[in-house]
Amino acid sequence: MELSRPNIETLREMLAAPARKIVTLSHTNPDGDAVGSSLAWAEALRRMGHSVTCIVPNKYPYYLNWMAGIRDMVIFKHDDEGRAARAVAEADIIFCLDFHSLSRLDALSDVIAANTTAKRVLIDHHLNPAEPFDLMFSYPESSSTCYLLYRIIEELWGTASITPTQAEVLYVGMMTDTGNFSFSFLTPDLFRAVAALVETGIEVPRIYNNVYNSFTEGRARLFGYVINRKMRILRRGTVAHMSLTEEEMRRFWFQQGDSEGFVNYPLTIKKMKMSAIFIEHHDFIRVSLRSRGDVDVNLFAGRYFNGGGHRNAAGGKSFDPMPETIARFERAVDEFAAEGLL
Ligand code: 5GP
Ligand code: MN
Repeated sequence: MELSRPNIETLREMLAAPARKIVTLSHTNPDGDAVGSSLAWAEALRRMGHSVTCIVPNKYPYYLNWMAGIRDMVIFKHDDEGRAARAVAEADIIFCLDFHSLSRLDALSDVIAANTTAKRVLIDHHLNPAEPFDLMFSYPESSSTCYLLYRIIEELWGTASITPTQAEVLYVGMMTDTGNFSFSFLTPDLFRAVAALVETGIEVPRIYNNVYNSFTEGRARLFGYVINRKMRILRRGTVAHMSLTEEEMRRFWFQQGDSEGFVNYPLTIKKMKMSAIFIEHHDFIRVSLRSRGDVDVNLFAGRYFNGGGHRNAAGGKSFDPMPETIARFERAVDEFAAEGLL
């Protein structure tokens, strides 16, 4: 993965002007990579004397609460004082981190659309960025936005500039988006980056425990329930789907973040190629998809659920009730298979 020299120099010039007002934005249902990249980038920019507001559309999952600086992020959904709208209106530069289309911001996208003067910079690793940006760092071959950001920081200021707090939040994004270093794009350069983060003194087992071993009892029981009672297997064991209704989630004291990782589990079954989970929200159903190898769930999500993501991890939405959503998925799977895509 080679970063574009001219882009790095353009970014350097943009940041050279003193005391800019900067906003970082990341996607709805912010995950470790979204939060980690926002916090690490904010620290770097503040050190240069810029003033930075980190905004996310809704709350991050509770297992990220421990991350340094996370409480200063503005959560648009609960932002009764209008801090997000003010920061966006005044911004000189808006950094879009870890998403490829303003539609991933839900209601926050209207606020962004209202500011037509700020420079917009994309730093992201999803396929097919949708909107025009003034400057784009779009690298789908990067395993996480945090790794991409690490490489940008390396080019701009060298890795010696990375503090232990930055290293910790960058590591969170690299770890979570690669499924603890088990998915795709695990390059030697990624592990060299991890080595540089570890050099700063971060404690890898503590970070792992904070993220992966900090769930509630309700989450563990909900997981058992969904795998045992709700997993359906199709096409001779190669496709699985699961669903959760609001009523079922209430029964297990559901908190946002509790279903994280469920969709990966069917892929632990030998021969499984694709897994889906449908999670009911107030006015739509969130669809999460995972696959192994050549099965392209980015394509699947775009075609059937108006979404996207990466080849092996994607998502979208359905505005139909649960039974229709599941029936639509099963028909789509058959169509996909008939085209030799599964
Ligand atoms: P997750 O299943 O973890 O929510 O999302 C997996 C991947 O799919 C992420 O990279 C995410 O950005 C992408 N994704 C999830 N939901 C949507 C969606 O509604 N639209 C698009 N375009 N991408 C999505
Ligand atoms: Mn990411």
